[in-house]
Amino acid sequence: GKVLVSGANGFVASWVVRLLLVHGYSVRGAVRSAEKGAHLVELFAPYGDKFEIVVVPDITVEGAFDEAVKGVDAIEHTASPFHFQADDPAELLEPAIKGTVGILESARKYGTSVKRIVVTSSTAAVLNESPTPQLLGELDWNDQAVKEVEEKGRAASNAAKYRTSKTLAERAAWDFAKKYKDEIGWDVTVLNPPLVLGPIIHDISSPEALNTSARAMYRAFTEPEASSGGGNWIDVRDLALAHVRALEKEEAGGERIIISTGAFAWQDWLDAAPPSSKYQKGTRGAGKDHVHLLRYKNDKSKRILDMEYRSMEDTAAATIADYEKRG
Ligand code: NDP
Repeated sequence: GKVLVSGANGFVASWVVRLLLVHGYSVRGAVRSAEKGAHLVELFAPYGDKFEIVVVPDITVEGAFDEAVKGVDAIEHTASPFHFQADDPAELLEPAIKGTVGILESARKYGTSVKRIVVTSSTAAVLNESPTPQLLGELDWNDQAVKEVEEKGRAASNAAKYRTSKTLAERAAWDFAKKYKDEIGWDVTVLNPPLVLGPIIHDISSPEALNTSARAMYRAFTEPEASSGGGNWIDVRDLALAHVRALEKEEAGGERIIISTGAFAWQDWLDAAPPSSKYQKGTRGAGKDHVHLLRYKNDKSKRILDMEYRSMEDTAAATIADYEKRG
């Protein structure tokens, strides 16, 4: 089969494309310009005509994906802004929501061979902050950030703006699938990862050009004093595999699935670095004192997608090997 992957040049999507190719799929990667696709064309040259680029300059324009969806059997929609620099929340909300609804609408009209659409959401669409520790699952929805953005607009926190973009985009996907269920030949699967970490195969020129999550990891390894606290994580290779399995498992249709390895304190990553590496620093073991206010269930991912999660040592080693390769 052939799979359309939006935002193909991103951190997560580059791995999604690679694993799809490894699993024998043909891939059409959507990027904003031919220039942004050049690295992928080179990277995936060994797959010959099984990989192609389609240019979709602006995902917020109506009908943006009309051509891109033609002839594909499935879609992995990953394109969405992930940064904490927006002043006007619309900078994040517009591409997140219009991009999602737009690709579904194009699939409804022109995706006659599409069977499944996987939408990359986030635990940002799941969590609500609270002062006491919580264990969250697929039934939980973020309404806190949405309310904050509704009430405060530009004055809302940067985290709330991003979380709202993911929450409203995911809600829009479910609403769309419900509204058109009698006329579409496909179903939707939503994947909700927390912070995505691990080695990089997309095109980046410098550490400053790293995407938000990989930059957080780089910072933790290079300036550990600046990285207190923690979060929840998933290795990018595991998340990419989840995107492949989400297409292959019939039972994944119509499901919202958290893809998360577990909680971390940044110090845990320093401890997990290879013993011989210069990244073993900080106060070994201090991570165990971190209070994890948010944790996520991952049993649904194991049940439906047969997920097995990589260890911190594996992810740390692969990430550091990647730094060292780049010098
Ligand atoms: P990247 O920034 O590496 O990739 C984002 C991709 O989306 C790029 O291809 C980018 O294109 C595209 N994109 C962003 N904004 C727009 C826009 N306005 N119009 C068109 N395309 C756009 O991020 P990730 O790979 O980390 O994120 C991929 C997905 O995973 C996103 O949906 C994100 O919300 C989700 N996610 C990521 C997490 C993480 O920790 N990394 C955690 C949870 C979810 P371009 O290069 O042209 O800007």
